[in-house]
Amino acid sequence: SLSKLLVVVTVSGSAGGGLLAYSDSKPQHVENAVISPEGENKKKKVVVLGTGWAGTSFLKNLKNPSYDVHVISPRNYFAFTPLLPSVTVGTVEARSICEPIRKMVKKKDVSVSYWEAECLGIDPVNKKVNCRSTQNADLNGKADFSVDYDYLVIAMGARSNTFNTPGVEENAHFLKEVEDAQKIRQSIIDCFEKAALPTLSDEEKKRILHFVVVGGGPTGVEFAAELHDFVREDLVKLYPKVKDLVKITLLEATDHILNMFDKRITAFAEDKFHRDGINLQTGSMVVKVTDKEISTKALKNGGEVSSMPYGMLVWSTGIGARPVIMDFMKQLNQGKRRALGTDEWLRVEGTGEIYALGDCATIVQRKVMEDIAEIFKKADKDNSGTLTVKEMQELVDDILERYPQIELYLKNRKMKSIVDLMTDAKKDTTKESVELNIEEFRSALSQVDSQMKNLPATAQVAAQQGTYLADCFNRMEKCERNPEGPIRIRGEGQHRFKPFRYRHFGQFAPLGGEQAAAELPGDWVSIGHSTQWLWYSVYASKQVSWRTRALVVGDWSRRFMFGRDSSRI
Ligand code: FAD
Repeated sequence: SLSKLLVVVTVSGSAGGGLLAYSDSKPQHVENAVISPEGENKKKKVVVLGTGWAGTSFLKNLKNPSYDVHVISPRNYFAFTPLLPSVTVGTVEARSICEPIRKMVKKKDVSVSYWEAECLGIDPVNKKVNCRSTQNADLNGKADFSVDYDYLVIAMGARSNTFNTPGVEENAHFLKEVEDAQKIRQSIIDCFEKAALPTLSDEEKKRILHFVVVGGGPTGVEFAAELHDFVREDLVKLYPKVKDLVKITLLEATDHILNMFDKRITAFAEDKFHRDGINLQTGSMVVKVTDKEISTKALKNGGEVSSMPYGMLVWSTGIGARPVIMDFMKQLNQGKRRALGTDEWLRVEGTGEIYALGDCATIVQRKVMEDIAEIFKKADKDNSGTLTVKEMQELVDDILERYPQIELYLKNRKMKSIVDLMTDAKKDTTKESVELNIEEFRSALSQVDSQMKNLPATAQVAAQQGTYLADCFNRMEKCERNPEGPIRIRGEGQHRFKPFRYRHFGQFAPLGGEQAAAELPGDWVSIGHSTQWLWYSVYASKQVSWRTRALVVGDWSRRFMFGRDSSRI
């Protein structure tokens, strides 16, 4: 029979090298305790690093009682990140989007314990992770400990990427964590209160009320839209004397904002921002930031460098690997990657029992290109370079069935030729045949291939990966006992489970003024006020508990009735 949970943690650095023994969730200090006596604890020990989308989705879906699960994360709550931009201006309160992790992982069958600590390093040889409590300062040298594992699930997310632009780290706000959103909220009010003081010149007030957002992706765009609404709907009434000095600038290095969305959404968003008076500067790359000035370089027109004074800067240009992940990647000779490389079963390449998912990982799909090239060769039976529409449709269906994630990348502007060709083939039945230039296709596909390695860093991907991996863990024993069972992948013998396949359910871009854009599967694009209501319903339904759902809906209703709160608490 499986014994009661006994987890033993080595406390390095403490006098006498004592050990901490935890029974269920009650910790007690035990000097020189024996680590998991042989045979007493037959459960496999699963250590999960991170309590974000990937980690919690794994934990929620893990149902097999034959694991001892230990969760380690510096954050003892889960945060619903898609609503973070709303927290920056008080449309939604910070606590409404957070759920305590201990509440989320409480399970009847599976024993799960949680430690509020940060992973500092991974030792795959000795199967250990080294951790430090977030309460480091109060623990008199007892903050560091290491935990051994049978399986390790890395779901540590990513950090904001500054691309080493000088001055950004010191002067910009980021929008990644709940604390970031709270700081931004305070800082916006600070700027208004400062600008309202009688001692400042108009020039200084103008600078202070110049809000700059860097990055025209969904987060930057949504924040700019939220800020604009906050100013227009609430702050202009409270700060009438300075309202005309407010300016919001959105800087984007490429030619358009919301690049990953359908062109119609991009065009609508750009138009709306122009109408709203948001100063949209595309083709403009930030090269340096000081405490009062931002220098940008135009990517066209001879690369002219210019500077603008600003009061507050929010940096949202994408993500990079956390230092602990970078160290681990170096250990595995993966140093050149942007994230931990895994196979399609989410196992970290070069390791046995380590899995990585969510923003900290990237699936390396080596065979995709070769497979697709083969499919093309077969389709072009007579080697003419031309296919009939029917043949083309079959070919497209074949590729999409094998690689459903391609559909997502077909929308990318850069692959116009392949998009047009495939869209034609799917829709236009009036044409007898479609010109198929294999070489052109190959070059377009090489772009698909490199992009496919990088699934988008979204909550959708992270949550689906968590669910997938939990399912593998739930069935692991059964499959080990019967490896030739029906779920074994034919002939390949790589693993007992089907590889992870991402299903894209669409994406939203809230644009402010109670308008949003949505891109849903089947090329369905919806923009406007009704889409904003769809957004409300989807995000209310996606909340992780009835408590947060009630709080979020309550916050939205409060905002409709009384506006946003501008107190600087
Ligand atoms: P996270 O959710 O970031 O979780 C990482 C976890 O690891 C955290 O619990 C963290 O505390 C923990 N951790 C960090 N360091 C350590 C360490 N050293 N040791 C142990 N644990 C550690 N995606 C969408 O699909 N739709 C959206 O609308 C959307 N909007 C977004 C808006 C904003 C403002 C942001 C920032 C992101 C948004 N995303 C959205 C992206 C989405 O939030 C991420 O893709 C998702 O959070 C990735 O999940 P994850 O579990 O990999 O990482």
